[in-house]
Amino acid sequence: RHLADLVTRAAGAGPDHPAIIDVTGGTTLTWADLDAATAAEAARLVGAGVGHGDRVVVRLANGAPFCVAVLGALRAGATAVPMGPIAVPRELDIVFSDCAPAVVVAGPGDTDAASCAAAAGATLIGPPDLTSRVADGAAVTHGGGGEDIALLVYTSGTTGTPRGVRLSHRALLANRAQAAELRPAPVTTVDRVLLSLPLFHVFGLAAGFLQVCWAGATAVLTERSDPEHTAEVLVAQRVSGVAGVPSMFRSLLDLPADRLRAATANVRMCTSGGAPLPARWLADFHDATGLWIFEGYGLTEGGPVLTTNGVGGVAKAGSVGRALPGVELRLVDAEGRPIDTEDPDDDEELDAVSDPGHDTGLVAVRGPNLFSGYWPDGEGGPDEDGWFRTADVGFLDADGDLHLVDRSSDLVIVNGFNVYPREVERVLAELDGVAEAAVVGVPDDRTGEAVKAVLVRAAGSALTEEEVRAHCALRLARFKTPSVIAFVDDLPRTPTGKVARRQLAQVPS
Ligand code: ATP
Repeated sequence: RHLADLVTRAAGAGPDHPAIIDVTGGTTLTWADLDAATAAEAARLVGAGVGHGDRVVVRLANGAPFCVAVLGALRAGATAVPMGPIAVPRELDIVFSDCAPAVVVAGPGDTDAASCAAAAGATLIGPPDLTSRVADGAAVTHGGGGEDIALLVYTSGTTGTPRGVRLSHRALLANRAQAAELRPAPVTTVDRVLLSLPLFHVFGLAAGFLQVCWAGATAVLTERSDPEHTAEVLVAQRVSGVAGVPSMFRSLLDLPADRLRAATANVRMCTSGGAPLPARWLADFHDATGLWIFEGYGLTEGGPVLTTNGVGGVAKAGSVGRALPGVELRLVDAEGRPIDTEDPDDDEELDAVSDPGHDTGLVAVRGPNLFSGYWPDGEGGPDEDGWFRTADVGFLDADGDLHLVDRSSDLVIVNGFNVYPREVERVLAELDGVAEAAVVGVPDDRTGEAVKAVLVRAAGSALTEEEVRAHCALRLARFKTPSVIAFVDDLPRTPTGKVARRQLAQVPS
């Protein structure tokens, strides 16, 4: 019923088993250490005035102090609001004024957090002391649980202003239980899982760290995700599981082949999520390492994992697989009506021009893992029948596996015709000389919007605009063919691996 119970349970089962190996901080905490440090942190927060249901912002880098601060807040009966060190004052102000935290936990030199906390009337405290312990017999709160909001996670706002997603203990525990039923199991007690994901985001924190807590396994944490460093950590820490974003797996392919193979020799499980994993990266990674990357699809509101590819052992390129056990999934139209896949005339609007032969719809989900609406009062949550409609357009293939076409908000409308950027991105990615491709709509006087492609050339390639146009002309209808083409060294990405689409529009062509 309570997320902090996971730590107490793991500490009971294997007190000396490592819980967190913090590579950057140079610390290792056993489950007994983590349990004790969490209790001390709960006591410290209560001492700082935190009460049941209060918000505690944790603004720290990936590492053991971050985990202890979040778990301590939960144990004190509070709601933890995870925030990374990269959030700028404007973003801090938005979040602080929205959720009115009682306490902000931040690093010593963090002047931005200090001034924003002061402006919001919150108490600022430093990171937890990992060695501090509560006196024997002192009360260690373990308040609330169940429907209480454990995490308030602000979406990155790639599609608008950030919104606070209220995730209860119940929802987060349900999603861990659902994921634990998958075979092969994503995390088992003996696994050492490198969390190469930001912990302030729900994929890293819930699907990553809390899944490790569920299994009583070991989380390996580092602030860096460059390939050389990742390879070193994989070997030095005998990592058996890697959870990352697609671009992290892609960057590992830049390592010399023998180095990559040696680095992944102990790895049995790779999981990716948060953004599409291009088919070519999946295949190249498999060729280089013999490992499949299992792709999950989810969103903050889902706690977060909704589907996963590769149940049974082989990853299917292009698909995000099946709903987790206990998660129901269906496709609906813009009004939320289920799409009748037998009726060819149903839902013409969403029948994607880009996927003839497939009935596409908005992905709707139902399950105990769903959020309790947005902060503060829960509006926008699942409807009265328990369904939540996402903004993702998808279709089911003949095996019943889900394919995501795109986010409905990313749709580009050219002369009244619908273009889903990901279809164009996939075509571009097939062209030799293209390392990465991203597509966005830009305003156009004549056609309303036009398709713009931003490309990263493969190493050594001298690919030209003309070659790109010629490739597209053979494979895409005229209205889908990019009319604006730009080349860049790297695509702008969010820390969670998503292409920062709004920035693409600004890239000069
Ligand atoms: P906002 O909703 O404000 O843009 P956000 O992008 O941070 O914020 P998240 O909950 O992090 O919101 O992202 C969820 C979205 O990420 C999904 O709705 C989906 O579009 C995309 N996504 C997640 N996993 C995958 C995947 N495996 N393949 C493709 N897209 C994915």
